[in-house]
Amino acid sequence: MPQAIDAKVADLLAFINAAPSPYHVVRQVEARLLQAGFSEFDLRQPWKVTPSARGFTVCAGGTILAFQAGTRPPAEGGFLIVGAHTDSPNLRIKPKADLVSLGMGQFNVEVYGGVLLHTWFDRDLSVAGRVSLRGGRNVLVDFARPLCRIPNLAIHLDREVNTRGFIPNAQTHLPPLCFLEPLGKNEQKLGLSQILINECSSELQTEDPSHILSWDLCLYDTQPATLGGANNDFIWASRLDNLASCHAALSAFVADSSPSEATKVMVLYDHEEVGSQSAAGARSFFLPGVLERLAEEYEGQRPGGVRRALAQSLLISADMAHAVHPNYAERHDKQHQPRLGQGPVLKSNVNQSYATDSVGAATFIEACQSVGANVQHFTSRNDMPCGSTVGPISAARTGIRSLDVGSPMLSMHSCRELAAAADVVPMISALTTLFQNPPRVDPGS
Ligand code: ZN
Repeated sequence: MPQAIDAKVADLLAFINAAPSPYHVVRQVEARLLQAGFSEFDLRQPWKVTPSARGFTVCAGGTILAFQAGTRPPAEGGFLIVGAHTDSPNLRIKPKADLVSLGMGQFNVEVYGGVLLHTWFDRDLSVAGRVSLRGGRNVLVDFARPLCRIPNLAIHLDREVNTRGFIPNAQTHLPPLCFLEPLGKNEQKLGLSQILINECSSELQTEDPSHILSWDLCLYDTQPATLGGANNDFIWASRLDNLASCHAALSAFVADSSPSEATKVMVLYDHEEVGSQSAAGARSFFLPGVLERLAEEYEGQRPGGVRRALAQSLLISADMAHAVHPNYAERHDKQHQPRLGQGPVLKSNVNQSYATDSVGAATFIEACQSVGANVQHFTSRNDMPCGSTVGPISAARTGIRSLDVGSPMLSMHSCRELAAAADVVPMISALTTLFQNPPRVDPGS
């Protein structure tokens, strides 16, 4: 019989299922923070940061930062920051959304990030995201049902697909089918705006498609996240990269409300998958700007304290790691083959694609050992390019010593990814103990 499901694993599955777009991730995180007693801080207003105050602030809908102020000002207690990202590679709907070809209504789509394109074919897809309406209203929508699909070409019409490979053209082969045009000429034309009105009028609060001015809408797979395997060893889900890390960061952050001298921060960024170059991304002024405010609007503080705060801070970037694939084991360095189910992975790269140095690594290893979690190591092969994360970007932007960690997974950037249920709790425990006992970092060491 499969093992009983752990409550934290079940919670991760629910978290992923409720978060089909970065905006839905932020809304869900916001709801959980409010429930845990955090209050919203408005970026436009002056802040009064009192010892142990708990707050959050949202940037451009897809990025959220939460904090618990230290018992001492950041200039004396520093920051302990855990970062992750809310976005995942996917297909998004272009501004001029409607295509009609050979009697079939389709959506015009654009590729967001490093999508494994073939995995999006023959999936039952839905649409979710943000719609902007006349009068400055922005609302979240989610069709939450199969709405469109990119059909594969029959093998009879592409006999060499299994020998020569499947190479879809991102412009011509991706538009999903959404409806069949009616035969009668006088039927009302369907299009995305009308479909939105038909199915999401309660969120949109209008029956008039002309009130819809713009959107940021993502396609997603309707198959829910689930456990699988003979012993329920696996998590099969979309968006594990990086909602598993967002969930771990949030679970650890909310679990620990113990007072500490350090100010604890969780930052979940949008736009990591496209290089972080945006107002809400890790390259922006958002994190340094908020840290400055937390340091200088802390009760009794004066301008200038942020520099002292940054010098004694630590940032842990949590993003998923490449587990070794049994059918492609040669793609990993022999000594660095993280295995599914064997615990958190420390990611390092001497060329700084990952931010980890020995001081940061030692801090994380000690944290894992203190909760009985095994630690694994990843560096890429020297003859293969290395991925990156918000870790080095945030480190460069703030001057804070940083490190990169993550849980092992397979199928990264697939429409449907794979991780191990056994890796969920160790990562949450490691981050929780770091939040409970923020390490003091000597900036010169
Ligand atoms: Zn990622």
